[in-house]
Amino acid sequence: MTSEENQMAENDDVPFNKNFPLKPGLVEEVVPGVRRVLCDNPSPFTFTGTLSYIVGQGKVAIIDPGPDSEAHAKALLDAVRGETVTHILVTHTHRDHSPNTARIKQATGAPVYAEGAHRASRPRFESEKHNPESGADRDFRPDIQIKHGEVIEGTGWRLEAVATPGHTANHLAFAWPERKINFVGDHVMGWSTSIVAPPDGSMIDYMASLDRLAAREEDLYFSGHGPEIPEGPRYVRFLIRHRQAREASILHRLSKGEADIPTMVRAIYIGIDPRLMNAAGYSVLAHLEDLVGRGVVATDGDPVIAGTYRLAS
Ligand SMILES: [Zn+2]
Repeated sequence: MTSEENQMAENDDVPFNKNFPLKPGLVEEVVPGVRRVLCDNPSPFTFTGTLSYIVGQGKVAIIDPGPDSEAHAKALLDAVRGETVTHILVTHTHRDHSPNTARIKQATGAPVYAEGAHRASRPRFESEKHNPESGADRDFRPDIQIKHGEVIEGTGWRLEAVATPGHTANHLAFAWPERKINFVGDHVMGWSTSIVAPPDGSMIDYMASLDRLAAREEDLYFSGHGPEIPEGPRYVRFLIRHRQAREASILHRLSKGEADIPTMVRAIYIGIDPRLMNAAGYSVLAHLEDLVGRGVVATDGDPVIAGTYRLAS
């Protein structure tokens, strides 16, 4: 890393919080009307595991039933014993969030609300193979499709769908304006940045979705993984600056000559967990796709993971 890049990295430090002692299977009431249950699926991508949320008391909504896990379904159903699940809400169709919906729906009969089935952010280029790490749940179908701005109301709670594409094309956050709470799924996480991997993800959409959240009133965020975020819009502004700095690092590397994506990853992500190298490559691709679209960077053919990139003259 050059001193210049080093300086950029220091200036855009995101205040991550990796302090999250919650154990899998336990029910924790974080604030009145919001309980969370951690699934036992830790990984470099999921941190300590996926969080499912229970909203309300007596007649409740469950947000993100989690991965295909009988143990986690049982923990969720135990958590709401004696209560009625009236709604199931899904933020996005990744395999660590939506597959358990079928179990919870079968046990409770509650209808499932989500933006729609899984889809990519753009059509696949001809040379692109299916990315096996995308983790998409292609079987998921909601009972009720919801759009940006639509309100889902239960007993003692009222959630507004906020379209937040970028991590996936169909990603929704669920804002609770009266309580200044936002369930932000994997769009914003306190422990790490989000993966934005084309063609499932889109950097242009992701940045626009960050702007959308930062402009809202809700300031307490609950994520799909890791601890709650107390000053949401402020944290989102850190994420925006982080991505802007990453884009600057890519342009800085390309100013020294054309490069392929592995070369750029090695120059930018110093000391990265080797298991995240592939994801980092897709993150760089997401930036490049955006830069090519804006005419700042050029490549031969479509902007793909195997491509070579240079500054547009
Ligand atoms: Zn997730």
